[in-house]
Amino acid sequence: MKKEKGLLIVLSGPAGVGKGTVCSALRQENTDIQYSVSATTRAPREGEVDGVNYFFKSRDEFEEMLKNDALLEWAEYVGNYYGTPIDYVKKTIDEGNDIILEIEVQGALKVKERLPEGVFIFLMPPSLAELRKRIEGRGTETADVINKRMTVAKEEIDMMKKYDYVVENDEVQAAVNRIKAIVTAEHCKRERL
Ligand code: 5GP
Repeated sequence: MKKEKGLLIVLSGPAGVGKGTVCSALRQENTDIQYSVSATTRAPREGEVDGVNYFFKSRDEFEEMLKNDALLEWAEYVGNYYGTPIDYVKKTIDEGNDIILEIEVQGALKVKERLPEGVFIFLMPPSLAELRKRIEGRGTETADVINKRMTVAKEEIDMMKKYDYVVENDEVQAAVNRIKAIVTAEHCKRERL
């Protein structure tokens, strides 16, 4: 089989749907997929490590990255900037390895405009009530932030039709299995003798 470029896999969906949890579970399965580390101006949560969970930046540093065209996409989400450093993504796919971006919906749609050959997966909550429970259950956000996240989430769910795949996150392992099946299918579609 000829080795093509790696897959650019975009896992998106409303905050609180469990993208982070699903990504970590996928990571534990030691697939060959690489993970993009985003830059953000949000303050680190307890236990988060710079360069592992995010590259934590000041607003000035983030704006400098924007000026230097260093981001594949970026979005302002609930008062903070989030963006994907382009170099690592490009290098990974050019070397024939797959990479996954775990990002919110505005950013995912920007990636789709720039790189439509990507694989766009929308992670769907079983219900809005369940989504609120998950956001509240995290216990790290104020009521105001929770309400803003819920408003954004409802708008984001309307964008689902623009994605290649919708995966329900009813149960983490089931969602991981569906994502692995999608990746396998995309390889079968693209690799040619
Ligand atoms: P959190 O603050 O909970 O870590 O992330 C908030 C939202 O930002 C989540 O939906 C997360 O997926 C998204 N996010 C994380 N990194 C990026 C990124 O590089 N670009 C965009 N557009 N969204 C991101």
